[in-house]
Amino acid sequence: MDPIVGIDLGTTNSLVGCMEAGFAVLIADAQGERLTPSVVHFSAGEGVLVGREAERKRAVDPGSTVCSVKRFMGRRVGEESVETPYPVVGGMGEWARVEAGGRRWLPEEVSAEVLKKLKRDAESALGVEVRRAVITVPAYFNDAQRQATRRAGELAGLQVERILNEPTAAALAYGLDKLGERSRVAVFDLGGGTFDISILELNRGVFEVLSTHGNTRLGGDDVDRAIAGWIRDRMREAGILEAGIWVEARLRGEAVRVKHRLSEEEQVRVDLPFIAGDRSFSAELTRQVLEGLAAPVLEPVRGHCLRALRDAKLEASDLNEVILVGGMTRMPLVRQMVEQIFGREPNRSQNPDEAVALGAVLQAGVLSGAVQNVVLLDVTPLSLGIETFGGVMNVIIPRNSTIPIKAGEMFTNAVPGQSQVRIHVLQGEREMARDNWSLGTFDLEFEASGKAQARIGVQFEIDADGILQVLARDTKTGVERRVEMASAVDVSDAAVEKMLEESLEHAFEDVQERVFTEASLKARELLKAVGTALARLGDALEGEERAGIEEGIRALEEALSGGAPGPLKKAMAELDRRTEHMAALLLEMAARKG
Ligand code: AMP
Repeated sequence: MDPIVGIDLGTTNSLVGCMEAGFAVLIADAQGERLTPSVVHFSAGEGVLVGREAERKRAVDPGSTVCSVKRFMGRRVGEESVETPYPVVGGMGEWARVEAGGRRWLPEEVSAEVLKKLKRDAESALGVEVRRAVITVPAYFNDAQRQATRRAGELAGLQVERILNEPTAAALAYGLDKLGERSRVAVFDLGGGTFDISILELNRGVFEVLSTHGNTRLGGDDVDRAIAGWIRDRMREAGILEAGIWVEARLRGEAVRVKHRLSEEEQVRVDLPFIAGDRSFSAELTRQVLEGLAAPVLEPVRGHCLRALRDAKLEASDLNEVILVGGMTRMPLVRQMVEQIFGREPNRSQNPDEAVALGAVLQAGVLSGAVQNVVLLDVTPLSLGIETFGGVMNVIIPRNSTIPIKAGEMFTNAVPGQSQVRIHVLQGEREMARDNWSLGTFDLEFEASGKAQARIGVQFEIDADGILQVLARDTKTGVERRVEMASAVDVSDAAVEKMLEESLEHAFEDVQERVFTEASLKARELLKAVGTALARLGDALEGEERAGIEEGIRALEEALSGGAPGPLKKAMAELDRRTEHMAALLLEMAARKG
């Protein structure tokens, strides 16, 4: 059978694996290494080098060696302000490209080179062609970043079967689906370039992301920079003033090495032979000094964790587990911080570098049928809602919500004496109902009453298979209808992309139209109320005042037929002003009567 591989396409390192005899295994390359540095070197002579070979070129030819490109995936120029040894080019607002080896590359083209290597490694280990993959991304990657990741897979000749959230993958790898009835876990993921904290709820094999926070610009690279800064200062004190891109690259390489060593040892020697001509540099660095440098850099993780807990409406003590993902969680300081923030020792049963990849493999196993009894949550690709007064789309489940999900809203009747509503279920991102896709309609009978007296609850429920059930209930009588709609998840990527493009393209007009529709509903009510009041007051109103109000009514009617929200709102405010005195009169009359 056609195998599906699981891939963790990391900022610093990437991994690939596959199900074998019912187990998730990671695949080693020809050198016996499972971690492939996500580094690509473009050179005129040697062509494209990937992984460790490229990593070795980083020190000698940093300008042609691209690392941490994940930070630029699906980003536009100006959105990302990280310093890189290679140039990031493009006009403001254009897709960011990197320049290396005399050419400009989109980040997904660079990532595709890493994926090609992983594909080759998997093929030589498995002895068959590999064409399908599951690839992981940070939980809060936006659509453009996810699409760029998918394209990277396609450019490498892989059909991307699923883009999987990294924390979900990690929780799968930790076997947390077996924790019992219901459990809640925090996935703390600190990698080379990104920090991600997600709170998940697992219920009988179903994973739900309750909240996620993070920072795409916080990770081990920042600590490396702080260490390199410390080394540079010590070099300067020693009278070594060498500068330049090559020196920087060596400083960084050494910073990474000593950082790793200090996770095991209390003190290490920083060694930079022949860093300036024939001069070498060497100094002692202790774990304590490293922690002094790293603590302020890493401090923001605390706020992200607390916010994630707050968004999930949980206290740290409600969590059953805290799991660690990402190479940086090997650092003792990071583990202490996690323990302090969550008030419990984190679970360290998995290798933090491999958990996400193993989870991707398990998900590939779910798709191929090799793994059963796990339902992995998907997200809704487009918003779901119903049509309300004036043909406006009222969103009930926003796009990108994790499924299964249940959400509802209360609606009322617009017309007195009305005894039936038509529920029109829609999918899409446009403001007006008619621009979205119709999933179906049905009618609900309810007890007739005055305007806005009825209470009709509408609930949307999407199960783990993506099937949407819509329930409408008259809360007064309990009469209800439950209707099953088509799959809310099975929409082709091209259709989703088209819908999103259109929603962006028409965003301005759409919002204008929605605002106008909503304002015109109010304007009509105002006109009706003013008409009734004028009739009721009769001669009690002076001729001049009456004429002023009638003028206001005419202006508002004109604005209503104009179609623009600005003048409509202005005319409403004007009529409101002109009727202020009349409203006071009415109140007085009512008080006298009472
Ligand atoms: P990832 O993006 O998950 O591959 O994480 C890579 C980051 O973890 C890089 O900043 C590495 O320098 C860092 N890292 C890996 N191993 C260790 C270690 N033993 N001690 C400290 N940091 C590490």
